[in-house]
Amino acid sequence: MSHVVTRNPATGEVLAHYPAHDAAGVEAALAATYAASLTWRDTSLPDRLALVGRIGGLLRERRERYAALITAEMGKPVAEALAEVDKCALNCEVVAELAPAWLADHPVDSAASRSWLSYEPLGVVFAVMPWNYPFWQVLRFACAALAAGDAALLKHSPDVTGSALALEQLVADAGAPPGLLRSIVVAADDVAEVSRRILADDRVAAVTLTGSERAGAAVAAAAGAAIKKSVLELGGSDPFVVLADADVAQAAATAVKARFVNAGQSCVCAKRFIVHTDVAEEFLERFVAGVAALQVGDPTDPATTIGPMARVDLRDALVAQVERSVAQGARLVTGGRAIEAAGAWIEPTVLDGVEPGMTAFVEETFGPVAAVVRARDDDHAVELANDTTFGLGASVWGATEHALAVGRRIRSGALFVNAMVASDPRLPFGGTGRSGYGRELSAEGVREFTNVRTVVVA
Ligand code: NDP
Repeated sequence: MSHVVTRNPATGEVLAHYPAHDAAGVEAALAATYAASLTWRDTSLPDRLALVGRIGGLLRERRERYAALITAEMGKPVAEALAEVDKCALNCEVVAELAPAWLADHPVDSAASRSWLSYEPLGVVFAVMPWNYPFWQVLRFACAALAAGDAALLKHSPDVTGSALALEQLVADAGAPPGLLRSIVVAADDVAEVSRRILADDRVAAVTLTGSERAGAAVAAAAGAAIKKSVLELGGSDPFVVLADADVAQAAATAVKARFVNAGQSCVCAKRFIVHTDVAEEFLERFVAGVAALQVGDPTDPATTIGPMARVDLRDALVAQVERSVAQGARLVTGGRAIEAAGAWIEPTVLDGVEPGMTAFVEETFGPVAAVVRARDDDHAVELANDTTFGLGASVWGATEHALAVGRRIRSGALFVNAMVASDPRLPFGGTGRSGYGRELSAEGVREFTNVRTVVVA
């Protein structure tokens, strides 16, 4: 029987071995999830939302335990892991409070005596999730799906298998019918084939994936072949634009957080800092001072602000991206090297003089590496910001109306003015271009996993 092994990325030590599900195990999980979906779709909305509320309550009770698990499995500093669990609980509370309005029948005037839209469950949603926010990525989707009357079959990243199983237990402990959220443990070599089989199964209605373009394209192709809906949350190379009239001190302080939170391993981390030449030197000086003040170290220490990356192979790929960018002419201002220690450590890194065509400009850098790009004027800043295949978030800094006008010209799923891009359970979250499609969170996110049904009475 194949196994999945989890490792602590701060030390390289093995955490646990988990037996992977074989074909019969996957079938049993799918059968249980499907059976749960049939009763859950007929469960009243107040009862469904009561479950979501209880999940939120348990998250608040167990926050230390879950945060320690997240930190052990993927290396995030414990302060950030606690914040992740708290945000999951907040999402539960928001969904429990607002979903009645989001899922209420929506009357529409037409030629009929009565007509309306009703938001009805889809059934089983297959969820393929990554390691970077092991609880948030899953519960962001699952709260919406469970509220909408769907069941969830989870294939989490093998790196966070302990979190995947804890999430299954959490939903069960909150009083869900057996099987409502099931986790399957799949060895990396089998993932493409297992996913394809699951998506071809008539008991599965839709899929949501958060991860790389490669994984997204594979899963969406399998969903397309089976004519099933997919939602994709993929990567980003988000621009953080600092205009000539920006509050540079505030922008630089926020830029540090926007790039280095979660050791830079977030799809909505700012990745390209596009700065007007008039303020570029001041921005760079302040930004680098902020980076120097980051506390790199043991992620279980509450004072640590940067831990290791999640895996050694991801760290090595990031160091190679930095080296290619420098060979292409970027200037290494600080960092840039792997830290010699067991685990997946890298120095927080700032590159200046990054230009279109260089690796750090063209590719997503999924780790603590900032690329500073200089812009001659607003038009140039917009051109640089849009010179990407991605389109997730954009952050623009300047006098408010000016920044808003520039931001409107940038293509992205979210625009934040004088603030870093961050998700909020009350606002939709998602991308354009190769950042994916569909939305999560808010009314739009809940409705993604429904059949928007037209009802007409003559
Ligand atoms: P992946 O995209 O490979 O992993 C995300 C999830 O997709 C995992 O559960 C993975 O399982 C699964 N997956 C991968 N290939 C397939 C497939 N063919 N069919 C079904 N499921 C699949 O990310 P990595 O961990 O390899 O990270 C690589 C890069 O992905 C990062 O450097 C970053 O650029 C991007 N990424 C983006 C994230 C985001 O939030 N948008 C989050 C994580 C990564 P398995 O691991 O078993 O292959």
